[in-house]
Amino acid sequence: MIEVRCNCCNKKLAEGEFVKLNIKCPRCRAMNCYVATSPLPGGSPAGCRRQSGNGVTPTTKQE
Ligand SMILES: [Zn+2]
Repeated sequence: MIEVRCNCCNKKLAEGEFVKLNIKCPRCRAMNCYVATSPLPGGSPAGCRRQSGNGVTPTTKQE
């Protein structure tokens, strides 16, 4: 079972098993994408594109 948390605010978004997942955080509206082969949690998914809203700044670096 993989627990999915928001990269920005660390809100728990989902848990389960998946190959690829794109999910938008309802709290900070950041777009999170995960691939099952990526290390979770705490890892930074490769090729993940994030958008920030509501003045929330992601702590991870942007491309
Ligand atoms: Zn969030």
